[in-house]
Amino acid sequence: MIEAKAREFICDMGRSMFERRLTFGSSGNISVRVNDGWLMTPTGSSLGRLDPARLSKLDDHGRLVGGDDPTKESFLHLAMYRERAKAGAVVHLHSTHSVAVSCLDCINHEDVLPPITAYYVMRVGKLPLIPYYAPGDKALGEAVGKAAAKHNAVLLANHGPVVAGTSLSAAVDAIEELEETARLYLLLHGKPTRYLNEDQIADLYRRFPPQG
Ligand SMILES: [Zn+2]
Repeated sequence: MIEAKAREFICDMGRSMFERRLTFGSSGNISVRVNDGWLMTPTGSSLGRLDPARLSKLDDHGRLVGGDDPTKESFLHLAMYRERAKAGAVVHLHSTHSVAVSCLDCINHEDVLPPITAYYVMRVGKLPLIPYYAPGDKALGEAVGKAAAKHNAVLLANHGPVVAGTSLSAAVDAIEELEETARLYLLLHGKPTRYLNEDQIADLYRRFPPQG
């Protein structure tokens, strides 16, 4: 993506997610791959009030070459990119329903959310839970990288989701789908529920092969 356009788009998407309460305070971060590295949201910044000129610019090695210091969670983004060659963007949120699900005791750590809808299966697929680590612990990056080799979305325990997409639109669509599915899961909790069955899921993957 052309850098000037990517800068504007990151700010527009950040504001949109902030205004719809998918993120709050200075939580959440966005990165986009550009020709010569990455653009990333700065540390301590609110996604609702990003300045295109102050976004962090990292080179191909992940070193800061322009703008403000990047989010302290930049290593999560770089871990996703290292394992996913087609990833063009990564979004991480502390979105309420996804965080709530990440704290539940009864979830399947290999695949946290059931296949409630076709769009969840198509945009997110399987969602592994990454064990809890303190903020900034580099072991978290290693754990995310391991899971990212097979998954475009992961859920950090007691923390929130990290999602990669071929483009920023794709990554935002997927993380929003994940958040809404977490909300549905909590709404349905304790009620007898019909999820998509294996044949229906296999048919979806045939029609819409996973991207990014
Ligand atoms: Zn976080």
